Amino acid sequence: MRIAVCVKAVPSAGSGARLDSASKRLDRSGDLGLSEYDTHAVEEALRLRGDDGEVVVVSLGPERAADALRKALAMGADRSVLVSDAGFEGADLVLTARALVGALERESPELVLFGQQSPDGNGACLWAAVAEKLRRPVVSQAAELAVEGGALRAKRQTEFGYETLRAPLPAVVAVSEAINEPRYPSLKGIMGAKSKPQEVLAAGDVGGAGDPVTTVLALTPPPARGESRRIEDDGNAAEAIVEFLAEKRLL
Ligand SMILES: Cc1cc2nc3c(=O)[nH]c(=O)nc-3n(C[C@H](O)[C@H](O)[C@H](O)COP(=O)(O)OP(=O)(O)OC[C@H]3O[C@@H](n4cnc5c(N)ncnc54)[C@H](O)[C@@H]3O)c2cc1C
Repeated sequence: MRIAVCVKAVPSAGSGARLDSASKRLDRSGDLGLSEYDTHAVEEALRLRGDDGEVVVVSLGPERAADALRKALAMGADRSVLVSDAGFEGADLVLTARALVGALERESPELVLFGQQSPDGNGACLWAAVAEKLRRPVVSQAAELAVEGGALRAKRQTEFGYETLRAPLPAVVAVSEAINEPRYPSLKGIMGAKSKPQEVLAAGDVGGAGDPVTTVLALTPPPARGESRRIEDDGNAAEAIVEFLAEKRLL
């Protein structure tokens, strides 16, 4: 089965979320790593690939995102496609979806997998935009996935329980973190990743860039924390918490 997995290179967890007041964007300088959410999509693709299938990871990002994509190759993906072009700097949801659709149309995958959300943008919606542009069915929050007879069967996690859906292929699926336990790349996988095909596409290869449709008007950090008290548990923590809440008239 031919599967494409859309993955995002995001600031490493240690760097913390920072705002750049000049550009009004998230500051994405520093090391980039493969989004943890997306490792679940890569793992699921590897499980569904089959003996004669192929898993290609597709991403929009700066050139240094290539290092993050190599983690997916080290896990077992067959090749990577990175759309990287100055024309996509500051890309919003619409532009990002357009770039990914341009890359995916060159691949014609039977299944496109996504993680549920990115840890920096946190939109949890890109998969819907891509599915709409590709005119394909979309299933989100998939906690179980199977492919049989030209269709997929997915168990979705909802607030009230699970629902099981069937959709014809080709289709788009965003997987939840509950779907699997992603493997750690082996040393052999890490060494082998370097020699796997890693294609870089320019805007012209995916139908051109353009201007973002959305404009960020303001970025405001969260207000400073109010009065807080750290309670060490010396055996009386519960009483101390109750006392604090009562003091604040919250009980
Ligand atoms: C005006 C504006 C300017 C912006 N400028 C930038 C910028 O300069 N750089 C930047 O990185 N972001 C920028 N963003 C944010 C960018 O638009 C979002 O990151 C993008 O739309 C994806 O949304 P998300 O990160 O919320 O992903 P979500 O919708 O939360 O992600 C869901 C899934 O989509 C996939 N995915 C997400 N992003 C990518 C990607 N880039 N490539 C492949 N798969 C992906 C992953 O599988 C992920 O798990 C900007 C946003 C706005 C509104």
